[in-house]
Amino acid sequence: MSTVVARAPAKVNVHLAVGPLRQDGFHELRTVYLAVSLLDTVTAAPGDGLTLTVTGEGTGGRGADLVPTDRRNLVWRAAELLAVSAGVSPDATLAIDKSIPAAAGLAGGSADAAAALVALDALWGTGASRADLLALAAQLGSDVPFSLVGGVALGAGRGEQVTPVLAGTRTDWVLGIAGEGLSTPAVYGELDRLRAAGQVPGGADPAAADPVLAALRSGPPAALAAAMSNDLQAPALALRPGLGRALRAATEAGAVAALVSGSGPTVAALADDERHASRMAAELAGTGVFRTVATVHGPVPGARLAS
Ligand code: ATP
Repeated sequence: MSTVVARAPAKVNVHLAVGPLRQDGFHELRTVYLAVSLLDTVTAAPGDGLTLTVTGEGTGGRGADLVPTDRRNLVWRAAELLAVSAGVSPDATLAIDKSIPAAAGLAGGSADAAAALVALDALWGTGASRADLLALAAQLGSDVPFSLVGGVALGAGRGEQVTPVLAGTRTDWVLGIAGEGLSTPAVYGELDRLRAAGQVPGGADPAAADPVLAALRSGPPAALAAAMSNDLQAPALALRPGLGRALRAATEAGAVAALVSGSGPTVAALADDERHASRMAAELAGTGVFRTVATVHGPVPGARLAS
């Protein structure tokens, strides 16, 4: 096999309930993941040892230092992990082309790791099963299993336990990236602080995901709008007050609803349909509130080889 190309999608947490802090330092989560049509590409070619280059979003100018090109990159770690588990030598020339902004709450690094597992499995002919790849994905990061699975899924544990869910309805969104990246651990830390101070409620209600899943199966956008929620929104807003302005801008531009995606600073604005999303994107791009504005739809498949 010469060169293999794989793509993987960004995600939006349409519902994210954060439970108490566990002994291992992670929070217990219940989340509904939606894979959306903003894709990173990972190319794997034969090589001598591992080399990695990164192009695209977050690699030039502002945010140039956001995406590492060494062992700190999740793709590098995915390659090492797969090589050890398959008993092959970690030889590959890897290239990531990023469309998913880094540290934006869109799981861009996780998407790259999932795409790398799929690409290298093919390049090296490891013959890993889907279950093998999912187990490796869970070791790499909480969102990596979902990046493999895609579509719509319920996430439990620290997010790595994914249960795919049938979703009949297409949803259209505008993603607006407001300001520089937010650190996920910092946002969880702020949530703990706000909860300890009694300023936001604690505990996740596992049943709260049901209306979101029902709305994604068959509901109109208004049903989804009424059901979506994100426990990380309050701490993200506390750390980045400008996000409040970004959410208001989305609502004023006609979003059916807007919420912070994951740990932010991306605002996900729900549209009625594709045309509505395009109109909203044009309006939001003109506000000057967002660094990047993109129209996307979901659900889309998880990491897979490009045809
Ligand atoms: P999280 O998955 O923690 O919620 P996120 O979705 O907000 O994160 P990512 O784009 O995954 O953001 O990046 C988080 C951090 O991971 C970056 O700041 C970067 O240092 C590191 N990182 C490692 N590998 C990658 C990669 N391939 N692409 C982007 N960031 C990466």
